[in-house]
Amino acid sequence: MERFDIIIVGAGLAGLQCARLLKNSGLKVALIDRKAQVDQRVHTTGVFVRKTLQDYHFPPGSLGPPVSHVNLYSPKGKKLSLESKHEEFAVGDMKKIYRYFLNESIKGGMIWCPQYQLMDIQKFGRDLLLDCMTPTGKEQMRCRLVIGADGVHSKVARLINLSQNQEWIVGVEDVYQIQSKDLKNKKPSFHCYLEPHLAPGYLAWVIEDGKEIHVGVGGRDKNYQAKSALDIFSKRIERDFNLKQQIKPERRGGRIPVGGILNKISNPHGLLVGDAAGAVSPLTAGGLDPCMRLTEFAVQTLAKYFSCPERDPVHILAEYSGERFQSRFFSKKWMRNSFNQLQTSQSLEFAFSILKRKPFKKLAQHIFFGRGSFPDIPELKDWKPSFIKRRGCP
Ligand SMILES: Cc1cc2nc3c(=O)[nH]c(=O)nc-3n(C[C@H](O)[C@H](O)[C@H](O)COP(=O)(O)OP(=O)(O)OC[C@H]3O[C@@H](n4cnc5c(N)ncnc54)[C@H](O)[C@@H]3O)c2cc1C
Repeated sequence: MERFDIIIVGAGLAGLQCARLLKNSGLKVALIDRKAQVDQRVHTTGVFVRKTLQDYHFPPGSLGPPVSHVNLYSPKGKKLSLESKHEEFAVGDMKKIYRYFLNESIKGGMIWCPQYQLMDIQKFGRDLLLDCMTPTGKEQMRCRLVIGADGVHSKVARLINLSQNQEWIVGVEDVYQIQSKDLKNKKPSFHCYLEPHLAPGYLAWVIEDGKEIHVGVGGRDKNYQAKSALDIFSKRIERDFNLKQQIKPERRGGRIPVGGILNKISNPHGLLVGDAAGAVSPLTAGGLDPCMRLTEFAVQTLAKYFSCPERDPVHILAEYSGERFQSRFFSKKWMRNSFNQLQTSQSLEFAFSILKRKPFKKLAQHIFFGRGSFPDIPELKDWKPSFIKRRGCP
């Protein structure tokens, strides 16, 4: 049986970013996913914020036109327009980005295993044995460390005893390809709707960037029926956005963890990244920027671990802890909890009328255009992934 230094479970943005940063590292890395193709079942809208766009490189042609304009609507349909002088957002073509990240990783020596579904993990000395279901039957893979990039309900987290997400919202959206010329020439904008019945505890949204229109709803009720809420919402805004004339190719959706970063995201068997680590802003539910940043920290930790002369430097893995980021998630969690209290149309209408006032408009501006979706990690300043000279024998 081939032995890998690292097996990454999950080829979403977090797993792919991890694989890409480990390319040419000299480590033996495998990336497994239950999907047959990396660009299947994309579940994210793909809105990247300014900070991510500034700090990371994306393949040419994979980002939509920049967006600097947001409209927020009250339950009664009142509008608050927010404009930034910066290019705040861009919607990524996630399929293209995933394919690009995967190809880069494969070129850099990573082994790609599609249609490998993780079923179980067993200890094997200091190593792990991963039981996977594949189209040809059960396969066992051996590795020193496993990376859980397997999303909100991470099996890796459960199997190696790390923290698991307990709170989430459900989001679902339809993506329309814009056909009509008028819409192509419209100013790219985000429209966010406070809709306590159709989107309890979150928002309904329309994003039009001249290429696509994303129409979605998210909610956190236990019995939330996201798909029927989306159908009702789409009908309601159909005329405003000329939806009937556009091609509707795709429905996306899934759960988004909003409980903040988890405490225990590493142990001597492995690490968690992305949604598996709860690395999502509890307030905005944006997880793409945290995916990129936390994964970079994870790879830096792995580099230190594998180049340390000690036999099994588990203290290095312990430095990768969610606790160090939790204070930064505190205010966002507090704001989310306050928002959750606003369950009725009246209370939301009232909160909206306050937001429209001058000093509070700044707060709205800060929520939508704030750059800090994930704390900066001082250790990452000037850090670049490189070949890892193994000095020990982990
Ligand atoms: C509808 C919706 C819209 C969103 N829009 C935005 C947005 O616009 N901007 C933003 O910043 N964030 C957004 N988010 C959040 C963001 O998409 C996520 O935080 C991010 O995509 C998480 O990436 P990930 O790689 O951690 O997980 P995932 O993308 O969930 O990837 C997990 C991967 O693991 C694989 N996997 C799972 N279990 C196994 C197993 N047992 N064996 C093998 N493989 C397995 C899955 O097939 C999958 O490929 C949105 C989320 C949703 C649901």
